Amino acid sequence: MEALLQQLRSRLTEVYDLRAASAVLQWDQTTYMPPGGAAARARQLATLARLSHERLLDPEIGRLLEALQPYEKDLPYDSDEAGLLRATRRVYERALRVPPAFVAELSAHYTLSYDVWTRARPAGDFPMVQPYLERTLDYSRRLAGFFPGYEHIADPLIDYADPDMKVSVIRPLFAQLQAELSPLVQAIRGRPQVDDRALFRSFPRIRQLDFAREVVRQIGYDFERGRQDLTPHPFTTAFSLGDVRITARAVENDLGQALFGSIHEAGHAIYEQGINRSFEGTPLGTGTSAGVHESQSRLWENIVGRSRPFWSFFYPRLQAIFPQQLSSVPLEAFYRAINTVRPSLIRTDADEVTYNLHVTLRFDLELEMLEGRLAVGDLAEAWRARYQADLGILPPDDRDGVLQDAHWFDGNIGGAFQGYTLGNILSGQFFQSALEAHPEIPSEMEQGRFGTLLGWLRERIYQHGSKFTAAELVERITGGPISIEPYVRYLREKYGEIYGI
Ligand code: ZN
Repeated sequence: MEALLQQLRSRLTEVYDLRAASAVLQWDQTTYMPPGGAAARARQLATLARLSHERLLDPEIGRLLEALQPYEKDLPYDSDEAGLLRATRRVYERALRVPPAFVAELSAHYTLSYDVWTRARPAGDFPMVQPYLERTLDYSRRLAGFFPGYEHIADPLIDYADPDMKVSVIRPLFAQLQAELSPLVQAIRGRPQVDDRALFRSFPRIRQLDFAREVVRQIGYDFERGRQDLTPHPFTTAFSLGDVRITARAVENDLGQALFGSIHEAGHAIYEQGINRSFEGTPLGTGTSAGVHESQSRLWENIVGRSRPFWSFFYPRLQAIFPQQLSSVPLEAFYRAINTVRPSLIRTDADEVTYNLHVTLRFDLELEMLEGRLAVGDLAEAWRARYQADLGILPPDDRDGVLQDAHWFDGNIGGAFQGYTLGNILSGQFFQSALEAHPEIPSEMEQGRFGTLLGWLRERIYQHGSKFTAAELVERITGGPISIEPYVRYLREKYGEIYGI
């Protein structure tokens, strides 16, 4: 068995080496590549996508999986070997259904579509990307079509990001959450509003980025195995478990962008840096789902990074860096400012309470497009209508409306957004479990110590990579299924106190 496993691992490593090469090219495309590189880059990425797909579909991998099947039932479910076989089978069987030529065509289309989006967004020019988005919808529907027998056409697409999640599970969960959060948003609107103008003074970008780097280093991001670069739409990418990179955007008159964006991406990266190094080059060597990934970025960004204990440590340091801007702003006023609840246009800047409204409306629009009830040509208008209805605000243009997210312009329509809200829900469950195990976590944060929390997360979540599904992790950690209750309680307590409800 060990010899067969070894053969399987070395074949998988070739596949994941090719994927890592694609990741380097994609990272370069969104950080340093000049516009003139776009067309060739699309072709290069398509070639790599096709090659890695063909490598994965090598009949030898199928033969090895078959030869290993008799051993699998004797392996403990939580062993690395059983995990590797489960994860490989999932990836292999999914890949088998999609022709390599289609994979290459899809990849080339997304690279070009992303490139057009980078010009259409600043111009607020939706018609410029509309033909690309129409093709994306067509590709997304065709991709789903390779997986017949689904309940909902979005299910196979969601499965790529959040394995085992389905529209029939997500819809009621999101409806439940919305029913809990809408009264909270209303109650906050009825209270005196928080003054957050202190965050929008002039903060030189270089010093913002220096401080953000200091913060992410302190919470546990390892710069020996990563680096940070600038990009218009921040993301995290891993070329190996020893090279997990983050990106940031800094805005002179908005202190939150670089700071909370960096903590967010560092949360994703700390997860990947914590994966068992022996999983590298296999399907186990990455976070298990979009939802669990987002649970970590959001946990570090919000539950930790917007908490009182965190800032009672970091605020004097921030004041020392920006004395002119912040010396007259007390800690309590700063804490309230960074937790202002106010319906806003941009998802990534949204506060914790209204954030999920941005996600559920995108999720609904995705489903409507896939179901054929909403044409791409009507999307911008539908977007405005939903912002008016759900958040009570009307985007002044498409730049800060339908064009604001890179998703849909760099990947499928379907599966792009549910992970954000699933992640918020899971962050509440995981943090509650961490606190139950270690009630000293908040007082450690007041001293700038994050090791107990990080150690618990590594032990319970990070090291496992993709060995367990999201549902299995939640079950192992909380003893039950995914539940909105800890997250809703966290929001009610925190914002009830800030707004005096
Ligand atoms: Zn994220």
